[in-house]
Amino acid sequence: MAEHRCTIVRIDPVPPATAAALGTALAGWLQDARIVVVNRAVDPVWEPCAFRPGPRWWTTFAQAGDRFGPEVSATGMDVLVDREAHTPSRNLVPPRCPGCGSAGDEDEYVDHAGRWVAATEPAMTCASCGRAAPLGEWADGRFGIAVGAPAVRFSNWWPLADDFVTEVRSRLGGRTSVVEAKI
Ligand SMILES: [Zn+2]
Repeated sequence: MAEHRCTIVRIDPVPPATAAALGTALAGWLQDARIVVVNRAVDPVWEPCAFRPGPRWWTTFAQAGDRFGPEVSATGMDVLVDREAHTPSRNLVPPRCPGCGSAGDEDEYVDHAGRWVAATEPAMTCASCGRAAPLGEWADGRFGIAVGAPAVRFSNWWPLADDFVTEVRSRLGGRTSVVEAKI
């Protein structure tokens, strides 16, 4: 089965202890809101996520209350506190210059992403307008690569409501990215 993952990640660097604390606070908020509950029967195949949908999980959808749409397959949520690269996998599209909107070179973009993983966020220069922008700004919507921590990943759980995504981003703090992956 194709899997859809929506990951909301902080790309502004923080020390590991801060990432862990932010992740714990976010998981606590989502549990208090009864959006998720701890998965007490993690199974690598059938129940792989650390959290399962809670009694009010459906309030996070773009059309809250529609509990019977295709999204009922929601499988769970994970909080990822280790810095890592989040990619859209099969959803990846060429990057887009945040200045002029021109498409950037995809190979160059992926090379830069490798540098981001290895060190700090590099800048990429636009061949059309000459602007150099941090790589995170080059993502075309939700279909670019993002490196950071902590991250919250929703599996087969979409479309998320914009105000819910905004709330999660504000709780992560700093610059954040949303990555919609199809695996
Ligand atoms: Zn440009």
